[in-house]
Amino acid sequence: MPPNRRLPQEQQQVIAAARKLQQLLRGARLQQLLQQPPPAFLTAQQQQLLASCCDSLQGLHEALQEAQASLAAAAAAAAAAGQQLLSSLLQLQAAHNAALVMQWALQRPELLQVKHMETCGIADETVTDVWASAHNTLRALLTVLLAASGSEAARLVMGVTQQLQQPGLLDRLSLALGQSAQQQEQQQQQQQQQQPVAPVDINLFTCLGELLNLLLNVWSLVIATPLYLQSAAPPAAAAAAAAAALTLVHVALPLLHQLQRCGAPLAAASAAETGFDSSDVTRAQKGFQTLQTTAGQLLQFLSEVLLVCRQELSKEVLMQMMGIFGDPLVMELLLQRLAAQTMLLHQLRRAHWQQQQQQQQHQADQDNSSSSSSSSTQLPGRTAGQQPIPAFHQHPDMLQLLPGGQAYLDIAAADAEDAIGNNTNAAAAAAAAAAAASSLVKAGWYAVMLLCSVSTSRQHQSLDSNAPVLSDATLLLLLELQLLAAWAFRQQQQQQQQSAALADHQDSTAAAAVLNINQSLLALLRAAIQARGSSLPPELLQQHGLLLLQALAAPMQLLMISTGNLKAHLTSAAAENGALDEQLFALRAAAAGMTPLPGSELGTMPTGQLPALAAAHPEAYCALIDCCLRSPLLKAEHTLIATQLLQYAVAALLSCEAALANTAAVAGLASALSSLTKRAVQFTNAAAQAAQDVWAAAAEVKEADGADGALTAANFPAVVASRVMPDLPPAVLDTAASYSVSSSSSSSQAVASTAFLVVLHARSLLQLADAMEAAGPQLLFESWASEGANNMLAWGFEAGKQFFYSTILRPQGQQQQHTVDGQWRLWQLTVLKGVAPLLIVLQLLGVVPPPPSSTAAAAELPLTAPAASAAPLAAVSSRSHGTSGSSSSSSSNQQAKWGHLLRLPLINAQWAAVAAAFVDKWGSFDWSTLEEQLFSCCASEAETARQVYQDALQLCRVLTAAAPLTVVCNNPSCETLAGVSEAAASCKACSSCGCRYCSVECQRADWRRHKQACRCMVAAGMTCG
Ligand SMILES: [Zn+2]
Ligand SMILES: [Zn+2]
Repeated sequence: MPPNRRLPQEQQQVIAAARKLQQLLRGARLQQLLQQPPPAFLTAQQQQLLASCCDSLQGLHEALQEAQASLAAAAAAAAAAGQQLLSSLLQLQAAHNAALVMQWALQRPELLQVKHMETCGIADETVTDVWASAHNTLRALLTVLLAASGSEAARLVMGVTQQLQQPGLLDRLSLALGQSAQQQEQQQQQQQQQQPVAPVDINLFTCLGELLNLLLNVWSLVIATPLYLQSAAPPAAAAAAAAAALTLVHVALPLLHQLQRCGAPLAAASAAETGFDSSDVTRAQKGFQTLQTTAGQLLQFLSEVLLVCRQELSKEVLMQMMGIFGDPLVMELLLQRLAAQTMLLHQLRRAHWQQQQQQQQHQADQDNSSSSSSSSTQLPGRTAGQQPIPAFHQHPDMLQLLPGGQAYLDIAAADAEDAIGNNTNAAAAAAAAAAAASSLVKAGWYAVMLLCSVSTSRQHQSLDSNAPVLSDATLLLLLELQLLAAWAFRQQQQQQQQSAALADHQDSTAAAAVLNINQSLLALLRAAIQARGSSLPPELLQQHGLLLLQALAAPMQLLMISTGNLKAHLTSAAAENGALDEQLFALRAAAAGMTPLPGSELGTMPTGQLPALAAAHPEAYCALIDCCLRSPLLKAEHTLIATQLLQYAVAALLSCEAALANTAAVAGLASALSSLTKRAVQFTNAAAQAAQDVWAAAAEVKEADGADGALTAANFPAVVASRVMPDLPPAVLDTAASYSVSSSSSSSQAVASTAFLVVLHARSLLQLADAMEAAGPQLLFESWASEGANNMLAWGFEAGKQFFYSTILRPQGQQQQHTVDGQWRLWQLTVLKGVAPLLIVLQLLGVVPPPPSSTAAAAELPLTAPAASAAPLAAVSSRSHGTSGSSSSSSSNQQAKWGHLLRLPLINAQWAAVAAAFVDKWGSFDWSTLEEQLFSCCASEAETARQVYQDALQLCRVLTAAAPLTVVCNNPSCETLAGVSEAAASCKACSSCGCRYCSVECQRADWRRHKQACRCMVAAGMTCG
């Protein structure tokens, strides 16, 4: 028989069965029975009534099953046919009738032998059997409904939901779940009193849970269908989805409450092992998590409706729908699922890592057999980037938030393992990769819903500082997740590159997940800090500060290392939701709080734990600032906070000899300083260009508006030079004075590191001065005077509203200096104030030769040089290492990284000559009169000051040319900001001297300048090390 003729026939059978049921339930005697709760003992007549009811329900159930099977086979025609069938069933009150019977039986749950429900016979006479057949019927009905898609689906689902609600089944359902939870608690108490336990509730929960799960799925369908329906016009679809969502929110919320309340007693059931079949317990606990997942999906669709329909919905409706996310129990559910997803990602990463280890071991064994020397060097290289990620999902405080603690995670893990299955190796790897991708996306959704929860409850001010979602445990969980998400994202990228199948869709969902997680992390941080009214607790930062720094840097680094379409997508998505440009504000708030001091100036912002954090993890601290500075998302007005934060790293590193001996930390700081300089130069150049355009236009229009933002950027060299740079020399001076006392091996590296930072600093000042020179005095003045753009300093809040705490930079100096010329002289003063102490340090280190007559110690270059360090420190440190003679001193210099800088006068005669000439000319200059002379009205004094400025910059220029550098691109006019750091980007080495470049282009462009220094290095037998 052809299927299209069978179909109506089966439908007719269903309809006939439904009609029979309806007629039966309209019978007076059955109605009378159903009006009272089920009696404990049934009369023969009642038994007969129930038997016929059972029979009828069973008939409908079987007819529905058959109809569903044939509908599934009919594919395309199924939707229409299914809808027609369901319409008829709705008319016949089929759902209502089954629900009526079920809710009747549920009034006496103690009569239900749920354990035997599945095996019960047809047309028996007990309450259990009636209940079971009604349950089966409803299940079959919902299954058919689930398969029905299309425009009618919403109407049908709402119709069925109404019919389930009418006899009070939905209330019964939630009540029964609550009851089963309550009874669990009672049973626990009973157990303590050694009383027998009836194992009915676990199974009742499983049965009801099954039905609830179907219901939640059906509801998800009705919300999701209009959203994804291609044919419907977006506003109409959105409105339909919103209407359905709004109705369902009210029905679903009580059920979700009941569900969450079942979690703890269900979990406790595993501890109480007596009385329950362990497989039943496991099934119920799994069922609980399945329900949570389905509920999570429903919530996801709700959040999507909110996202899509924000414009179309009235404020009142919007608030009502948002309300579900602000519900504490919903928040709890989201947090629990987020923990489970985090755990899954953690496990996948560990499995992946173990697999890599095995492969490496295998590879190493092979290498060993062929050549024993190379294998030991290969191993660490390949494991790089696999730093451990702490398992905060297992933190005791987190486990407290999960029903059953560790057992909750174990069940989720077992569930996931079932999903991956026992594949062969290759298939298992693919399945694990797919699992990681899907976990990432799910975690992203839970994170975004949690974000929605937090912001909703903060709007209603219903979130207090003790809320679990604001706890340290939750924050740590999100930090862990952020790092895991970055890993999963990179994995996926690598895999797609390998398979060359660049599915843009997959890329963008993973990227969106990473951004969502970051946004959620920032929102939680913000809420937690605000609720506590202070920064994160110092002990938390002491223990987990590194994780915070790494987690905040991770998404920025992903952005910087991704390429092509993906980078473009990530950049535009990040620019749209604006999350990624707040990493540094999050750091500031976490370590120093977000309460701005009213009217506080740049220099008086609270520092909190920032210096301690910078000192404890200088590498990670600088890496975070570095990648933020290099990001294309960094706005000019956000640069100031980077400038500010970097100050603490400068202070931390330069005031500590041990820190200076840590070459990775020094390289990190050097890289960040260099990136900051590049940015400042870039912004200044852009501002100069914009200003030219504006001034060109202003010649015609007379009024120039709208260029303020660009103009403000023009003062960045001044800000950088006056804020970060001056901190460097005094700190160095303090530390340098201590070198002569200590003479350990770390001090020889510290001396070399100091030389490196100081030379780099001189180069930076030169770059800034050149950029400023090119932009001209007019631009600097305009930039101080412009008031349009704010410079963001910190997260602030007031009256529950968040904002950026910002400052407007004012012209410097006294009122009478607020002229183009006055500001320009002040800028020159700033540069000279930076250069002067540098020269002292360089002289102390022996990079600048001592004055010609050693008796003229008082006339030594700048006046403030400490008397204690008359002898060049390089000599001190090399003496301490060499046994005797010059050959050993050169070997000790080579041990220290950047040691070549300390020997610069020996290596490069031209540098020695220029430096000596400078010392000759200005050795007796009184630097303390500099400001006076710069602003002097006496022409010769002003000319002297101008000469000092010129000569000092020229000295920096010659030094920069003579000192080949690593860590940064050696080309001072390099403008590239690609890569996560200057150090990472500068991967090309000069083959002769080993200085670094970011690209062949930069190397070529710099050769004319570098040539002379390079030859000197080669002649001296030195490399940059
Ligand atoms: Zn370069
Ligand atoms: Zn070279």
